[in-house]
Amino acid sequence: VTARAVRHRVPASVVDVVRLSETFVRITLVLGGAGGVRFDGPTRWVKLFVTDPDTGAQAGRAYTVRQQRFAEIDLDIVLHGGGPVARWAESPLLGEVVTVAGPRGGFTHPAPGAAYLLAGDESAAPAIASILGSLPDGHGRVTAVLEGGADALPPVDPMRTSVCSLQRSAGTRKGSLLTPALRALPRPSAGSVIWVAGEAGAVHEARRLFLDEWGLDRGAFSAKGYWKYGEADHRE
Ligand SMILES: Cc1cc2nc3c(=O)[nH]c(=O)nc-3n(C[C@H](O)[C@H](O)[C@H](O)COP(=O)(O)OP(=O)(O)OC[C@H]3O[C@@H](n4cnc5c(N)ncnc54)[C@H](O)[C@@H]3O)c2cc1C
Repeated sequence: VTARAVRHRVPASVVDVVRLSETFVRITLVLGGAGGVRFDGPTRWVKLFVTDPDTGAQAGRAYTVRQQRFAEIDLDIVLHGGGPVARWAESPLLGEVVTVAGPRGGFTHPAPGAAYLLAGDESAAPAIASILGSLPDGHGRVTAVLEGGADALPPVDPMRTSVCSLQRSAGTRKGSLLTPALRALPRPSAGSVIWVAGEAGAVHEARRLFLDEWGLDRGAFSAKGYWKYGEADHRE
């Protein structure tokens, strides 16, 4: 049985909180009772259940496991201010007890040599970082297009990886820079890993580019809305 097939629902304590940047806070959780389970891996995620600091209600949302050390996992949370987890992440957190369910998702890297095209807004930066941190030896050219959140990426080898960091100006809708930036790139070669995530409307636009303009099959790429303007707990 692989770690992906087994789902756990465990209590976890916040043991470290680091404000990485204006955009992100990194919280480190110690998981109770899930010894030996790999929660990390490319794009693997958990459902984090917290108590809304304003209403006292429980809220569960998806977060990428940025990395794992024994029973500790790091989550990088975008501080957008508009939802229960984002508000919770700005409250005093040390010692808070939460619930973590998972792991879920993830993918297996293709054979060495494949090129990668990775794109997203800041909510996808931890997942893109998890891909960049797990690339197989001998991988092909990597292009990462990040709208916000490039500061959360690990150092990359500039000979093999290009990071295109898109800066929004004030008032620009999140995700709106992604598809125009992707359209300006050459069409990826067959067999490339194409992965995009972020605001659902922006991801929909990217999907249309892949299907209608680049002529890709649906199975040739992964495109997932990680959140949606005006919709709490968006799922797709
Ligand atoms: C598989 C997966 C992995 C994910 N990994 C991460 C991760 O590692 N880090 C991370 O920060 N997020 C990640 N997300 C996105 C995260 O789950 C959502 O942003 C979630 O909605 C946040 O919950 P909330 O309680 O703060 O807001 P919600 O209550 O869900 O939403 C309230 C309102 O806030 C707004 N909103 C929600 N998210 C954002 C945002 N990112 N930016 C601006 N406005 C927003 C929407 O307008 C929404 O109406 C991931 C999502 C998925 C599906």
